[in-house]
Amino acid sequence: MSIPFIDLKTQYGRVSGKVQEGIAKVLDSGAFINGPDVIRLEERLAEYCGTRYAVGCASGTDALMMALMALNVGPGDAVFCPPFTFMATAEVPALLGATPVFVDVDPQTLNMDPKKLDAAIRAVESGDASLHPLPKNVGKLRPKAVIPVDIFGLLADYQGILAVAAEHGLFVVQDAAQSFGATVEMSGATRRAGSFGSIACTSFFPAKPLGCYGDGGMCFTDDADLLELLRSVRVHGQGRDKYENVRLGITGRLDTLQAAVLLAKFEIFPDEVRLRQEVAARYAVLLSKVPGLTLPVVPQGYISVFAQYSVQARSTAHRDELLAKLAAAGVPTSIYYPKPLHLQSAFANLGHALGDMPVSEAAASRIFSIPMHPYLEAGVQETIAKAMLG
Ligand SMILES: *Cc1c(COP(=O)(O)O)cnc(C)c1O
Repeated sequence: MSIPFIDLKTQYGRVSGKVQEGIAKVLDSGAFINGPDVIRLEERLAEYCGTRYAVGCASGTDALMMALMALNVGPGDAVFCPPFTFMATAEVPALLGATPVFVDVDPQTLNMDPKKLDAAIRAVESGDASLHPLPKNVGKLRPKAVIPVDIFGLLADYQGILAVAAEHGLFVVQDAAQSFGATVEMSGATRRAGSFGSIACTSFFPAKPLGCYGDGGMCFTDDADLLELLRSVRVHGQGRDKYENVRLGITGRLDTLQAAVLLAKFEIFPDEVRLRQEVAARYAVLLSKVPGLTLPVVPQGYISVFAQYSVQARSTAHRDELLAKLAAAGVPTSIYYPKPLHLQSAFANLGHALGDMPVSEAAASRIFSIPMHPYLEAGVQETIAKAMLG
């Protein structure tokens, strides 16, 4: 039997009855767009995240797009994002005509480094690229927003990032596409992914910690004005009336069928987050024996949902060696992310070069991900560890 990278089949075995029941109800109702399940899901997930409002949408990318449109991000704006992330984080500001300003990550957590964020904002404010590598040929930029990413399911350092953003008057948009369900103890309370910044965005792509059976996403906010803007932008900038368009928007709605799937899956989600901790704890013991392997760091007070279990080899050659051993043992692997965004051709216009973001570049050259899901059994994990030790 082959080892799956992510096991959606076993999960489906747990929820199939509820999923089929939910889907059947939607089919009977005919309310395929903005049906009652979408509103039910928004209420349930807002409560779980500890925010006042949630707005379901068509994908994590659309969630980011709607958030930046609601905050009026556009040409001339600098939007600070990490380069070690999925394309969408920096693609969305660029699609709106804003300029992504990349901020390197912390070598331990691989999340945005608040000190480098401060340097990057100061560099943009003063136009002094000696303070921090800046995009070239983009003219004078106005610092506008920060998009911290919770890479691989670990929350970014919001204590640090929110303080820097507040000092410079920037909006924070949390990219929680990988971290739904993750928590941190902060100022005596448990804070959950989805509760940081003016707007937080998540994705329900099937492979994410809470996934549907297609595309889906959600925005979270505590701000009633932003709620109204998000709802408007979600449907072509509609005003009070369906055929009154008061601004530009997108087709960002979440399908009712996907909301029904998510409601069924959400019932077992807290248990799945718990199971992920058990799987990660077993990996930590088994893989500590592999020479030269750096395991994911979860700082004190944090719970990661391990959207990916990503480890770092000593070097690219060492990674090649380990990947070959795993492939020979029938273990699927993946590299997230082999090329940081500042070096992607799509952003060649920003004029970045190798060396601009050394921590992201080093991580990209050494990192790889191994199977991770709530149903990964101890025996399979032993096989995976043995393959790397062999
Ligand atoms: C998956 C992902 C997105 C985009 O989500 P989609 O639902 O695929 O559009 C955005 N940011 C990060 C960090 C992601 O991992």
